[in-house]
Amino acid sequence: MLNVICRHNCKDCYAMRVCAVHAIKDQQGSIYVETDECIGCTCCKTACIDFGYKALEDKTAEWLKGAA
Ligand code: SF4
Ligand code: SF4
Repeated sequence: MLNVICRHNCKDCYAMRVCAVHAIKDQQGSIYVETDECIGCTCCKTACIDFGYKALEDKTAEWLKGAA
């Protein structure tokens, strides 16, 4: 399942760069996580908070992995 994270708030998505399993996707002008591929390491969240516009600040590992 693709969960929308943000509308590509940063020119380069830092979260996408650090995801070792390439679960962060750039599609149709938005950034998504493919929940079936995510292993819940939260590296994307750290990168987004430290370098980006913090769209992942309130997201949990469980959300990234597809929990409601
Ligand atoms: S806010 Fe976070 S998820 Fe959105 S583009 Fe920036 S780094 Fe990526
Ligand atoms: S939490 Fe999931 S989407 Fe984020 S970097 Fe880790 S594997 Fe990739």
